[in-house]
Amino acid sequence: MTNRRFTLDKFSVGVGDRFAHQAKAQLEACLRASRAGVEVVPVWNKSNREHNIIGSEPSSTRAAADAAVKSLQWTKPYYCDADHINLQTVERFLTSCDFYTIDVADFIGRKTDQSSMDAFVRRHSELLGEIRINRVEESFEITPAVLSQVASKFLFAVQQASAVYRRIESAKGKGNFISEVSMDETDFAQTPLELLIILAAIADEGIPLQTIAPKFSGRFNKGVDYAGDVSQFAREMELDLAAIAHAVREYGLPSNLKLSIHSGSDKFSIYPAIHSALKQCNAGVHLKTAGTTWLEEIIGLAEAGGEGLALAQQIYIEAYAHREELCQPYATVIDIDPQRLPVPAEVRRWSSEEFTSALRHDPSSDSYNRSFRQLLHVGFKIAAKMGRKYLDLLEANEEVIAKNVTHNLYARHIGPVFLGDNGGS
Ligand SMILES: [Zn+2]
Repeated sequence: MTNRRFTLDKFSVGVGDRFAHQAKAQLEACLRASRAGVEVVPVWNKSNREHNIIGSEPSSTRAAADAAVKSLQWTKPYYCDADHINLQTVERFLTSCDFYTIDVADFIGRKTDQSSMDAFVRRHSELLGEIRINRVEESFEITPAVLSQVASKFLFAVQQASAVYRRIESAKGKGNFISEVSMDETDFAQTPLELLIILAAIADEGIPLQTIAPKFSGRFNKGVDYAGDVSQFAREMELDLAAIAHAVREYGLPSNLKLSIHSGSDKFSIYPAIHSALKQCNAGVHLKTAGTTWLEEIIGLAEAGGEGLALAQQIYIEAYAHREELCQPYATVIDIDPQRLPVPAEVRRWSSEEFTSALRHDPSSDSYNRSFRQLLHVGFKIAAKMGRKYLDLLEANEEVIAKNVTHNLYARHIGPVFLGDNGGS
């Protein structure tokens, strides 16, 4: 099965599917968008970390995506994203993936050699002075000192991105894959001005970049809402869109270059701002969600009652016992209040309704418990260890789980971001 082309459409959604059982239910959400009048292309993303924790290979993500596409007769493009890869981890993704998120966050702030620095600053005198960009009233003022300072912070990271890009290109051939550069997993947000300078450096390296994932201000914790100043985010995003449009014109980057927002899922409070910024700037976006589909699996199992509910309770109880170890790899992207975690004895008594209403992300519900949700979110290792037992129950309860997976993706993410509605909760 081949894709029509490797030019990413205006709207795309990154979906995670930890156990490779929900591709069909996820694709169904894109079909609903299509019926509602908006084309949203699915990209199945799974990081090396996730594959390692679960013990899976990128070929399983590809097989699940291909099977879903075939079964639902999806005729538009779709992709498999090697999420957050670097030079050390890219190899195992070279065969099965056609979208690469090259993560260089760890290299931000590392110094490159002085001659590269000097050459960059010399080459980009057009960046000096007052930069006016379309649609934005204010202008950027870049002094030689600012240019050198930003270059010294990001040039090495861009050179690393280039090395990873070359490795992928040598394996797959130019034009046969989509490239994204991500800088989101770091402590400090990049400003729109920094983004412009980073894009100039990426263009210099000849990377045909189609998406870029900066870090925005505020916290993007996994599976819970945005924590930060929504109006500041909105302003930042509009300036980023303007910087991208400017860089496309000025540096010949691909005309479909767009922002990739690594949302970590469920950023309900900023989705309306994203939608209106896209509309205002006639821009596209790649909305990457995290593996919260797995939480819909747990919700579906709990809703099914009986063995399903018992397994959901058992997963929580084990996650509770191993909470420190499970949270450690995700420390920068979760925020759990241990006081708010229900004790195992209590959860063991919960009904389907009590379990699902604590887990389901309905901010208006008093029963919703974000600490409970975040612990389960990082607890997928427990389910992975259960192996067949977990997968058999997923298969036995496919219908109730699929209903939750599709509704979550369509009504809570695709609707608000791409259609500008709240799809019914
Ligand atoms: Zn990310």
